[in-house]
Parts: sequence; C-alpha cells; structure tokens
Amino acid sequence: MKKRYKIAIIKGDGIGPEIIDEAIKVLDAVSTNEDFELSYDEYLMGGCAYDVKGTPLPDETIEGCLKSDAVLFGAIGGQKWDTLPRQFRPESGLLKLRKSLGLFANLRPTSVFDELLDASTLKPEVLKGVDLFVVRELTGGIYFGEPRGSDGVKAFNTMVYTKDEIIRIAKVAFESAMKRRKQVCSVDKANVLEVSQFWRDTVIEVAKEYPQVTLTHMYVDNAAMQLVRNPRQFDVILTGNIFGDILSDEASMISGSIGLLPSASVGGKVGLFEPIHGSAPDIAGQGIANPIATILSASMMLRFALNESKAADRIEKAVKHVLKDGYRTKDLSEFNAKEICSTSQIGSIIADCVANI
Ligand code: NAD
Repeated sequence: MKKRYKIAIIKGDGIGPEIIDEAIKVLDAVSTNEDFELSYDEYLMGGCAYDVKGTPLPDETIEGCLKSDAVLFGAIGGQKWDTLPRQFRPESGLLKLRKSLGLFANLRPTSVFDELLDASTLKPEVLKGVDLFVVRELTGGIYFGEPRGSDGVKAFNTMVYTKDEIIRIAKVAFESAMKRRKQVCSVDKANVLEVSQFWRDTVIEVAKEYPQVTLTHMYVDNAAMQLVRNPRQFDVILTGNIFGDILSDEASMISGSIGLLPSASVGGKVGLFEPIHGSAPDIAGQGIANPIATILSASMMLRFALNESKAADRIEKAVKHVLKDGYRTKDLSEFNAKEICSTSQIGSIIADCVANI
C-alpha cells in the first residue's frame, strides 16, 4: 500500500493561486510513479482570509496546518490591504503562522542554472557553479528581543540569543552540510556585538559533534561583500535573523530571477514551504508568473518534510531539463528562450517531464 501524506495548501493572494496550481500539477505527476500519495486540504491566509473571515489567519488555518504533514504556501499581500491596522494586514498572518508552527529555521538554497547565467546582474564567470544554502534563524534575535520601543526622543531594539536557540539552529546548519559539501560558514559581528561572540563560541561547541564538517567564521560586512565577489566559496551559510534576512535576499539575486528560488521554514512540528517572492500583484491574473520557485519549494517539501528525496531529485532534474530545452516564462524571456510559456504551460511541461524521469 502506498504511503499517504496530507498537505495543507495555502494559495494566498495575487499570483499565489496560479503558482500553487502548477506546483500541485507537478506533485501529482511525480507521485504517480512513487510509493506515496498526496492529499490536499486548502486553507485561507492573507488578504483573502481577511476579506472572508475578518482576520488574515483564521484559527482553522492553524489547526489544519498542525494536522498536516507539511504546508505548501504561495504568497500573500497586496495594496488593497496595505492601509489596514497592522494586526489585520496579510503579513501579520504569515508571521503568526510561522510562530504558531514553531518554525525557527529558514532554509534558502541558491544555485545557478547554466542556461540562465546571463540573467543575473553578476558576471557569468563569477556565478558558474554556485550552489549555496543559507540557514537563517527565524524566531529570535533583534526582530523579537525585548525591551523594544520608542519614546519620541529615542528608539531601541534588543538583540538577544539564548544558548539553546543557537544550538538548535547550528545543528540544522551542520546537518544540512553533512548532506552537501560539508562546509559551514557562520556569519556574525563578533568584533562588535557580545551576542555575536556568544553565537560564535556556541557554534564552535556544536561543531565538535560534527568532526567531518569544516567550520569557518565571517563578519557579516565581509560576507555581504564575499557573496558578490566570489559566491562559489560558500556551501552552508549559518546566520541569525537580521543578518540572514539581508544576506539571503542578496544571495537570491545571484540566480537572476526572483521567480526561481524556493525556501523552507522548518524546526517545528510541521514545515512550511514557499517561494521567496511575494504575491506580485502587478502581474496577478495574467498567466505570466513564473511558477518554478513554487515547484522547487514543493521539491524541498518532499525532501525535508516527507523524506522523499528521490521524488525531490526528479522534480529538480525536470526543472533543469525544461530550462535547458529553452522553455521560459516572460520574466526570463530574454535569456536563451526557445519558447515563451504561460504559467500553466510551463507547469504542464515540467509535469510531463517529471513523469518521464
Ligand atoms: P514581489 O516579490 O511580489 O514582486 C517583486 C517583483 O518581482 C514584481 O515586479 C513582480 O512582478 C516580480 N515577481 C515576483 N514573483 C514573480 C514570479 N513568480 N514570476 C515573475 N515575476 C515575479 O514583491 P513586492 O512587489 O515588493 O510585494 C508585493 C506584495 O507581496 C506585498 O504586499 C508584499 O508585502 C508581499 N510579500 C509577500 C511575501 C510572502 O508572501 N512571503 C514576501 C514578500 C512580499
């Protein structure tokens, strides 16, 4: 009998529904000749949830996600909801969902497809062969530290990390490195910040449990520079919340299009898998969004939440094939395109390809 996995689907706003439909198409294609079946339950979050339920994150969405094996999420947000009080804004729903699911680790792989080397603003010779993986701490650090506030004369935030928080994120980075090239570069600001020195000392302690992994350290200002100077030097980058926020966006530009990059937030009971881009309201409903970031997020879901690495590999191979064959959505139309496809066309081409891998 086939294994059965329950997937919570959150399509969200803007291009969310279009890109998620293509990821489901590809997941269905890959599962046909695997030893598992997927069932999907759809839940509301974001502006669409506010419109229907008066809140960006209804309780049934949290409960539904917690009952599932993984969550596949599109994107949320749009101008229509931008003037609402903060607690009703779509983004508040996503932050609350991450917190409710206990997702303390954000994983962002960045690699470059040879056929799209020209799509980046960096030189092809700098990019060729880049394959890095950012592990960002997601629920601690300065974004959440207390005290915080402003009294009109001054404003302040607090950067705080407990030892346990550092240990658990460092373990995610070392475990990830064990499945890759076995290098971890921990990024901090230990020359200036006590919290960073504590981070560094703790990461060194955790490293003793992983003798096969080479650990290096880099100050965040240097890391920002090295990412554009020589990104090939990195395997796994381990960093805290604010540094990771900035560095992972910088790293994302290496690949050239925001429509290509997946991400995973893990560490709690149920992982959340989503493209790194937003809801792209400017192109929503036109059938031109690139669904590849979401399709690759579905692949990460298979790998990290369901332990179905073979199926994940098949999806990644199919995406590579299709790009190599010159199929492109509009955002990549200038780069070695043979045929420009709609969102749904490229989803079907990838699904057909995956079925034959
Ligand atoms: P965005 O990522 O939605 O779009 C930036 C640019 O990239 C736009 O020109 C868009 O058309 C393009 N783009 C994005 N994804 C694409 C895709 N798959 N294919 C082709 N082109 C794509 O960022 P933004 O415009 O700053 O934000 C729009 C809304 O999304 C805002 O409400 C913002 O708060 C929200 N947002 C949500 C998330 C999330 O859901 N995780 C993340 C970032 C932004």
